[in-house]
Amino acid sequence: MIEYTQMEAWFLTGSQHLYGPETLRQVDRDSRAIVDGLNAAGTLPVKIVFKPALKTPEEIAAALRDAEASPSCIGVVTWMHTFSPAKMWIGGLSRLRKPLCHLNTQFNRDIPWSSMDMDFMNLNQSAHGDREFGYICARLKVRRKVVVGHWQQPAVQERIATWLRAAAAWSDSQSLKVARIGDNMRQVAVTEGDKVEAELRLGYSVNGFGIGDLIARVEAATDEQIDHLCDQYASSYDMADALAPLGPRHDSLREAARIEVGLRAFLEEGGFHAFTDTFEDLHGLAQLPGLATQRLMADGYGFGAEGDWKHAALVRSLKVMGHGLPGGSSFMEDYTYHLDPLAPAVLGAHMLEVCPSLAAARPSCEVHPLGIGGKSDPVRLVFDAATGPAVLASVIDMGSRFRMVVNVVDVVEPFEALPKLPVARALWKPRPALETAAAAWIYAGGAHHTAMSLALNPEHLEDFAVMAGIEYVLIDENTDLRQLRNELRWNDAAYDR
Ligand code: MN
Repeated sequence: MIEYTQMEAWFLTGSQHLYGPETLRQVDRDSRAIVDGLNAAGTLPVKIVFKPALKTPEEIAAALRDAEASPSCIGVVTWMHTFSPAKMWIGGLSRLRKPLCHLNTQFNRDIPWSSMDMDFMNLNQSAHGDREFGYICARLKVRRKVVVGHWQQPAVQERIATWLRAAAAWSDSQSLKVARIGDNMRQVAVTEGDKVEAELRLGYSVNGFGIGDLIARVEAATDEQIDHLCDQYASSYDMADALAPLGPRHDSLREAARIEVGLRAFLEEGGFHAFTDTFEDLHGLAQLPGLATQRLMADGYGFGAEGDWKHAALVRSLKVMGHGLPGGSSFMEDYTYHLDPLAPAVLGAHMLEVCPSLAAARPSCEVHPLGIGGKSDPVRLVFDAATGPAVLASVIDMGSRFRMVVNVVDVVEPFEALPKLPVARALWKPRPALETAAAAWIYAGGAHHTAMSLALNPEHLEDFAVMAGIEYVLIDENTDLRQLRNELRWNDAAYDR
């Protein structure tokens, strides 16, 4: 359900007629070589498409208008091989809404010391041509990413790849439909928010549905569909004995499968790629959807518990950004601290809904009581998360704006076995340290819910936040608490106008 093959980004090279047709032909040859080289490198997840050099305001406006109108174009990469007087770009750029990556590169990596002449100087001007372009972007407040370096360098290609992933998620977010089944958990603040502003700012639409709309699909599930899913479960997970076909709790597994059939049907019929539920409104459902939610997330759906539509959409965006990369993404919640001064760590989990794409090994499928909600015991997948660097991201509504808070963490193996904890979990050490990271997160107002990814780094999220024009607060190895508190104060001044 996530596909990059229909997407492309356009490579737009700025120039002007001053240099004559021979030089302009060379500009096109060089641009095409860069595009072919970038596509052949194998680093970029989305195809780059060459466009002939732009030499007039009319050509620039037309190219950007076409990019805006093209359903497959997710953004533009710009490069000024020669000097391209930037007043020519005002009309086009001021109407561009799609993401822009300004690549400040040069066709040749090195100065050709022995052969360099004035012809070379006339052709290879990006060191100053890209500054002229940078000025007009700054003047017009164009949201953009600037990447500097030689186009054949892996680090440069990696930064473009990161931007393309963010642009893919941004494109997805523009048509994303989030189904909100039930309202937010009563009295909870951070899961609230302005859904009109979210659609305006982030593109996705959030609409509510009564639990009855879901129940109708759950009740329509056939025995054949349920049998088929139970077979899938048995082949995918280590099944608890009680849930096996002749086990005493097999009915619970069949009920979980019935919910999955119904939930999938509901989401597919409505074209929803993200959803929420709430344990406070399960009227007609036998159990809180655990296994179904986990498996839908693994297939690429966004999910937020307790009506948390902002994190449902964010999980979906992380899924799109991380498509094809090693490491999964999931809904997550900071649950419990380990405050041993020698090894402080955070245990993250949720009641049930952690995506098995994070799992270090084959999950086990179990059934246990939930303790809240007053429903039957829900079936869930239990596992430890894989280890490695990860990002935790949260989007909150500050009233006047959305703020994205991101913390870089290192997921580690649990220090000891957790034989009685019946939920999937991840143990991590936040950067720079638990005390600083948690204080920074709390000062910033980040939610207890997050979207977690072992596939992404903070640059993916920063690029996405820039595309959305929302505030971005990063907590990582360089975070200094006093500096961060100042940054929050200054951001208030910058945004609350
Ligand atoms: Mn929760």
